Order: sequence, then structure tokens, then C-alpha cells
Amino acid sequence: MELLEKLEILANSAKYDASCASSGSDRQGGAIGSAHISGICHSWAADGRCVSLLKILLTNICEYDCAYCINRKSNNIKRTAFSADEICRLTAEFYKRNYIEGLFLSSAVIKNPDFTMELMIKAVKKLRKEYGFAGYIHFKVIPGCDLKLVREASIWADRVSVNIELPDHKSLEKLCPQKNKESVFKPMKYAADLILESAQSKKLKMAPAGQSTQLIVGADENSDFKILNLSQWLYNRIYLKRVYYSGFVRLNDDSRLPALKEPPLIREHRLYQADWLMRFYNFKADELLKDGENLNLFFDPKTAWALKNLDLFPVEINKADYETLLRVPGIGIISAKKIIKARKFTSLTAQGLKNMGVSLKKAVYFITISGKYYGLRTGNKERLENLLLEYKQDELFDLKSPARTYISANTGNL
Ligand code: SF4
Repeated sequence: MELLEKLEILANSAKYDASCASSGSDRQGGAIGSAHISGICHSWAADGRCVSLLKILLTNICEYDCAYCINRKSNNIKRTAFSADEICRLTAEFYKRNYIEGLFLSSAVIKNPDFTMELMIKAVKKLRKEYGFAGYIHFKVIPGCDLKLVREASIWADRVSVNIELPDHKSLEKLCPQKNKESVFKPMKYAADLILESAQSKKLKMAPAGQSTQLIVGADENSDFKILNLSQWLYNRIYLKRVYYSGFVRLNDDSRLPALKEPPLIREHRLYQADWLMRFYNFKADELLKDGENLNLFFDPKTAWALKNLDLFPVEINKADYETLLRVPGIGIISAKKIIKARKFTSLTAQGLKNMGVSLKKAVYFITISGKYYGLRTGNKERLENLLLEYKQDELFDLKSPARTYISANTGNL
């Protein structure tokens, strides 16, 4: 098979893994900039730079039969595999032509996890040593592999990741019978220890850009509470850099899968917002939701939280501390910092806030400015909800927009 045909098949198979920043982008109709056909995605390097990556599978030949995956063994699809040399050549050539700055290498499970990992490691080691490639490498660890291989991969890669896919062992058993909780979490915890140890030592740095993972949303019954709790644990205890959420798309006719007609994109979006609140706004999962609950699809998670906690509002903009300001709907990190800085010199007014670029559209219902409240006089929660609904919740998230045509993740530990 020609290399280009292999690239088409294996870049196409890799697109279902959402654990990099630009996965899912499939804008139609433009002449330039479209990257997904050639398998180019984006990620953030250890120093915070956004880098474009060649995103491919080593192979889509799989011994496993995960219910949701296009590459599962029981599907009749075209199969192929790259050699280590082919991966190196493609990466080096794409790099020289300035198409990419790095490689995102994943794989289906050929023979067994160890065999697959050995082939993947052979490719990245060759790329580093023989091709002298110093660019970014994101390496997908295959669940269930020997820990020695996780170590070896972490030497050559900037980022490693093991996809969790499903947030509890029952779903794993049902939808991915060949995987289990231990096969996923053991390599993940081991990589976390390696990364931490090496970051503290002056010797070789292991996976300096850290670890990430992916969770599929809507392929099972698990609630957003369960998903967010797991993410919180992953950030706090495994020190993950990112958890990626991927709305389930039904690609296989399988009675174990839910009969969703459309991928749950708004739910996925709300999870990203809640994840952001946990990482940067000091929210805890159990503040946002109760056990078994899903996020509100109409309001962003901070507004939904504020509506459930109206007794905490309004807060005085000239007195509230930074953490409290961050909890006001419509006030983000930049605005909260500006407010704290500006009020050292003056008492803030509504006009002063506007001049500073602080949007009061939503915040006005949750704050007082020098003791004056400009929001709703009636204290009627239903009226407030209606007003907030009128305010465009997600300016960047228009499901009708072609820019948001979405390919979501249906494969996991590719
Ligand atoms: S998710 Fe990964 S292991 Fe499971 S069938 Fe797909 S490629 Fe194979």
C-alpha cells in the first residue's frame, strides 16, 4: 500500500481521539487552513506554546473489540500499519515543510499491549536518535502494557497519555471487555510518579509536558457529577495536565450502546466549562453538582451555581475578595484582577467598571457597586433566570455554525 493511502487511513482512524486541543475541528468549504484530512492537530508544549502535530495511529489493526470504536476487531474496515521508518519519514518531511511541529502517536492494539508499545517506542526512539527530531511528541500509552515500556515511552515523549474513556469499571466491562480499571490506571499512576520524580531531579526529564486523558461522554449512564469527580481526582492526585471530554457518536450498530441520534455536544461543552472552573476558579465538583446530577444545559456552570446560591449574592464589588469575585457570573480572571488592582486607588463605579472593560451584562444581577444594586428589584428567581437566558450564554458556541461541525471521540485507547 502506498504511504499516502496509509496516511489517509491512519490519520482518519486517529481523528476520533480528542485528547489534543484541536481535535474535532472539521471546517468545510475553505481552501486553506483545514488540517484534519492530513491528520494535523494542536497541543500545548511544556512551555505553554501551541504546537501543531501530525496525528496518526501506528496501526488500526486491533485485537480488541470496544463497542464504540470504529477500529474494533469486528468491524470490516481497511486495515494497515506504518513501519517505524515511515512514521519517521512522514514526521521529518512534514516538519521540514513547516506543516507540523510535532507528532501525536497513538495505536490500536496489534497482537497485545506490549507488542504495540514496543513498535511505537521503536518509531519515536528512531525519530529522536536517527532523525535528530527535537520537536514535540505526544505518545498514547496502551492500557495494560508493562510498566517498563511506560518508562521508555516517557523518555522519548514530551507528553504521555492513557485514555480512560469510561468513568467506571462497570462501563469498561460492558463496552470494552478486554480492558479493565487496573490496565488503565496502573500505567497512568506509574507515569505520574515518573514525571514528578524527574521534574524534581536534575537528570533526564520524563514527559515534561505531563499527562492527559480522554473521557467519552454519553456512551454510558454515568452522570456529569461522576465524570467531574473523576477529573478532580485526576488533577489533584495524578497531576494530569488536561482531561479531554468527548461527546459520544454512535458509529457502530451495537445493542450495548445508547441510541443517541446526535452527539451530546452541549453536555460536552458544559463539562469543559465546569472543568475550567475546577482548574482556574477553585470550584469543587460537589459544589457544582450533587451525586447523580448532570450539568444544566441552559446555563453555564458558574451561572447555574450562582442561581442555586442566590443567598450568597449580591457581593460588593469594592470589597469582595478575589475568590468571591471569581464566583460572580460574568466576571472572569482578568476582570477580577483588574478590579482588585483598580480599587487600591479608587472606589469603583459602574462607569469605571465599563471603562475597564468589565462586562456587567450578567454580573449586574449578582453585585452591588458602592452599595447600589442595579439588577432585579423583585427578587423573583424565575424572572432572573429568564433574563439570564436572554443573555447569550455561549457566544463562542453556536451549534449551527459550520465552524463547529464536530467529530467526536469514539475510540479510546487506540
Ligand atoms: S478503542 Fe482502541 S483498543 Fe478499543 S477497539 Fe478501538 S482501537 Fe482497539
